[in-house]
Parts: sequence; C-alpha cells; structure tokens
Amino acid sequence: MKKAKRIGFTTSFPVEVIFAAGHIPVDLNNIFIEGNAAQHIRNAELKGFPRTLCAWIKGNFDAALAANLDEVVGIVQGDCSNGASLTSMLKEEGLPVWHFSFPQERDYTELDKEIAKLEEHFGVSRVQTLQAKRRLDSIRKKLAVLDGWTSQERLVSGKENHIWLVNSSDFWGDPDRFESELDAFLKQASRRQPIACKYRCAYLGVPPIYSDIYDRLRDLDADVVFNEVQRQFSMPPIGDDIVQQYLAYTYPYSVFERLEDIQTQLRERRVDLVFSYTQAFCHLQIDNILLKKHLDLPFLTLEGDQPEELDSRTLLRLESFFEVHG
Ligand code: SF4
Repeated sequence: MKKAKRIGFTTSFPVEVIFAAGHIPVDLNNIFIEGNAAQHIRNAELKGFPRTLCAWIKGNFDAALAANLDEVVGIVQGDCSNGASLTSMLKEEGLPVWHFSFPQERDYTELDKEIAKLEEHFGVSRVQTLQAKRRLDSIRKKLAVLDGWTSQERLVSGKENHIWLVNSSDFWGDPDRFESELDAFLKQASRRQPIACKYRCAYLGVPPIYSDIYDRLRDLDADVVFNEVQRQFSMPPIGDDIVQQYLAYTYPYSVFERLEDIQTQLRERRVDLVFSYTQAFCHLQIDNILLKKHLDLPFLTLEGDQPEELDSRTLLRLESFFEVHG
C-alpha cells in the first residue's frame, strides 16, 4: 500500500483530490494559529521575513517547516498577493511545491483545467475525486445544519460555528474522526436552550487572529450569526459537480462575488451589525473599502496584527460602536 503523504496548503482548494489520492491535507493556517503562533512568527522573522508583512504569511511559512510535510500546494491566484513569494521561500527550504490557481474570471473551463492538472499531479481520476467529494459532502451537509442552528435555532454560538467551519478546510486530515466528533457535538447542541443575544452580528473577512473576539462580543450581549469566509470553507451550496462547487466558492474571486453572497446572508439571517475583520498589511483591506461602501448596515472595521487578545483600544471601539448603534 502507498504511504499517505502530508500535503500542506495555504487556503481552501479542491481538497477532494488530496483525499482521493489517499493523502492527508493540512491547512497551514489552522496549524499555525492552533500551535505556538507567536513563536512561528518570530522564527520566520529570524529567517528575514519583514515585520511589516502579514502575520499569517510568516506563520504559515514556519508552521509548514515544522509540520513534517511531504509537499505543499500553494494557491497563487485567488488567495493572497504574497502567496507566490511564500512558496518560493518554502521551495528554498527544500519542500516540493505545486501551484494551484483559481481563474481570475469565474470561468468553468479554466477551473476545470486547473482541477484536472491537480488530479494528474496526484494521480487520480475525476471519478475518484467525485467519490471523495461525496464522502466530504455528507459531512458538509451536517455543517450546514450546524450553521442553521447558529443563525436560526440559535443552539450553536458564533464561536462554535467559527471553529467547526474553519476546520472544514481540511477536516483535520481525517474526515471519519471529524464527522464522529461533529455528530457528538450536534447531539449535545440539540438538547440546549436557544442562546439569547440582543444583537445579531455578521463577521466578514478572513478568520480573526484575535483569540477572544467571539467571547468579547458575547460580553456585549451580541453574537455572530454569520461567519462569512468560514462558511465558504464549508462549501455551500452542495452540488454534484466539483467544478461548480469551486465556482460557487466566493473567496477566490472578486469582492463583488463576496458581496452578492454577503447581502443575501445578511438579509436571510436578519443581521443587525456588521464587523469586517482585516489583517494588518493585507491587500484585502482594499476590498474592505467596497464592502463598507455597498453594505447599508452599521459597519465596523477591526484590524488585527499579532495573535493575541483584543487590545484595549479595539475593545473601546467595540463598546462605543454598540453604544452608538444599540
Ligand atoms: S490575511 Fe491577507 S495578506 Fe495575510 S495571508 Fe491572508 S490574504 Fe494574505
């Protein structure tokens, strides 16, 4: 039997191909933030990464070196403007790298070709990819229930929603264990009373580097009923076609695709207040200008830099926002 390889990656991409090949996908963002994040950043800076560079890039670099990986899939179009340079640094450290690009335009044929190249690289057929997709979709359907329990039934908090959805990028590399723990969580949540909150909030943007943002919102009698990008990682809506699935995934395309999804979800989830998270030194801060312009709900931009708790200045801004809009 072929040995399963550990394949790191930099953002959600057709992970079905990795599972179909019998390998273990590892989302570098998750192992960075769940590990000793501050140390990963320091190590990257010792290698020469500048202080004025997004902490996730530095964290992903050092987390990749420490994760006993066989290869990295770097998403160089449709994710981060620093992605290609990050993969060059990983290559320099001796890690084999495969580049995956989401097409600039949301084009079926182009994305189909890119997925086919990925399949060829990992030696799997489209039939095998679709088999893996069916397995993952059975878990994604349960995540859609969990998401509904956050926005409608309110049996699941915004923080729990964030944790489950953000980890659906790689299913911990072990879909069976992920599903069995998800089943146990849903069973326990089904017995809860609905979680009361005065303010129904949306969290937009990349996952937070702050460790306590969801807890601080709960302190202010608020909760997140919509985690935008984390929900995208769970790949709604679920269809039969792998190419359609990754065309429906809004994150790799322009801010206008994100806006369409956000506006629908804000309406359906009866959101009162919007928090848009931006990372220091991230190009997505430019997209945030358009999010703020086109959304007509009270909107607060939060900027994080290092992995830490919310600083007192940001806490004060949060409290003032609730005072003004409460
Ligand atoms: S937060 Fe922005 S700059 Fe940092 S890795 Fe993500 S996309 Fe890149």
